[in-house]
Amino acid sequence: MKTYSSNKGLILIVEDEPSQMELLSFNLNAEGYDVLKAEDGEKGLLLFKENNIDLVLLDWMLPNISGLEVCRQMRRSKDSSDCHLIMLTARGEEEDKVRGLDMGADDYIVKPYSIKELLARVRSGIRIRTKTKSHGLLTYGKIEMDINNRSVLIDKKSISIGPIEFKLLQILIQSPKQVFSRMQLLEKFGKTIWK
Ligand code: CA
Repeated sequence: MKTYSSNKGLILIVEDEPSQMELLSFNLNAEGYDVLKAEDGEKGLLLFKENNIDLVLLDWMLPNISGLEVCRQMRRSKDSSDCHLIMLTARGEEEDKVRGLDMGADDYIVKPYSIKELLARVRSGIRIRTKTKSHGLLTYGKIEMDINNRSVLIDKKSISIGPIEFKLLQILIQSPKQVFSRMQLLEKFGKTIWK
């Protein structure tokens, strides 16, 4: 595995339009992130498996495998639950958004996007990821979770919580915008609860 110079975060861009790829990688590099580039889903999945990616920017409309399918496969692969996944799409319909989030995306940006907004979403995604990775801390609103000592604070007050509830809360906080079906939760449980 290659090592990367910055510790700001490693971002994988999966995008088939060269001008979009150029725009994204230029701006992310300028912000100090390391960037891996894939022009199709196959390469994206390969790079995803081989590297410890912090955040994925994934185009919806890709040749061969669609972005939606790439998203699904990334989420099914081992240990991807703490990688932040943002879908990029020209399709702005509510139904598409729900489908994207259903497949495991954490966030959704409609093209044409402002690069400033995209960078802000990337920063926020990396922040969620870094907190979990380095301190084992997750926060959402008034809820604070410490993954290492398995404690939960709500409004700074400690609450008592069982192991299954703890895992469930962790899954929900890691993807706060996602609606999970019962099956998806069971699948995620299967991946994480016996660790
Ligand atoms: Ca495309």
